[in-house]
Amino acid sequence: MDSYYVIDGHCDTVMKVADQGAQLDRTGQSQVTIPGLKEGKVGLQFFAAWVGPKNRYSPCLQRGLQLIDAYYRLLDRYPEDFLPVYRYPDINKAREQHRIGSLLTVEGGDVLEGELVNLRILYRLGVRALTLTWNFRNEIADGVMEDQALGGLSGFGHEVVREMNRLGMLVDVSHLSERGFYDVMEISGKPIAATHSNAWSVCRHPRNLKDDQIRLLAKRKGVMGMNFYPSFLSSERAGILDIIRHIEYIAALAGVDVIGFGSDFDGIGETPEGIPGPEGYGGIINELLKLNYREEDVQKIACGNYLRLLREIL
Ligand SMILES: [Zn+2]
Repeated sequence: MDSYYVIDGHCDTVMKVADQGAQLDRTGQSQVTIPGLKEGKVGLQFFAAWVGPKNRYSPCLQRGLQLIDAYYRLLDRYPEDFLPVYRYPDINKAREQHRIGSLLTVEGGDVLEGELVNLRILYRLGVRALTLTWNFRNEIADGVMEDQALGGLSGFGHEVVREMNRLGMLVDVSHLSERGFYDVMEISGKPIAATHSNAWSVCRHPRNLKDDQIRLLAKRKGVMGMNFYPSFLSSERAGILDIIRHIEYIAALAGVDVIGFGSDFDGIGETPEGIPGPEGYGGIINELLKLNYREEDVQKIACGNYLRLLREIL
């Protein structure tokens, strides 16, 4: 099957570039490398600037800017390999120029430090998606690992979601508390994503989404990206078939239109067996084809569902 490419909705590679000086043209420094992205047919990679938790990375806006700087230095170093995506047509432009589209995101709304003005400035700096929380509480909402009674969106969080809708930024609910998820669903005027979250019924980890969340996300034309972190895939040593199990479950529960990829490469210490980095995508695609998924559906999972979502947002 040739008619596909992969959109990966989450990696933390920018952190490796900023903190460890990782270079993407060689192996061994980061899970995401340029040869790996090419081998895995990744046509668009989201690059997250991971900000948080506060007690480690304060002041958070400063940390965010440091990572955004590292992202742009990365693009400067490999101008022939990457093309930054700011608007939807840039995705096709990258394809035509045989470059990898790159989409800048921030993971952790702590970066806003409670100020809407910072959201607007981040948009102007090229940020096109924001993961509202990391695992803990911030000015926007509670994260999923907050040990207090889990709250939903704050008043400021409501303002942030509305402003993101207006600006054309993708709202990402991975890491968000369950209540926060439903609050976002109620107020967001645009479809949203859980860029790197799996199915809780398959692997009972608090970072995964419950059935009702998945059904609602699908109904609202959102996307959830399959996360390759072994602890989110299965309780045992994970491999390609564990990723397939999540896909199969979600497809049966809510249809294939909600499924995408969000590897979490470079944010995860271990990867599933056979998937050292994006070069492993071919193996997943082949496995789906072996299971007699229609090519059209495999194409949706690989890139089509994200394209539908981004067309609406960007
Ligand atoms: Zn994450």
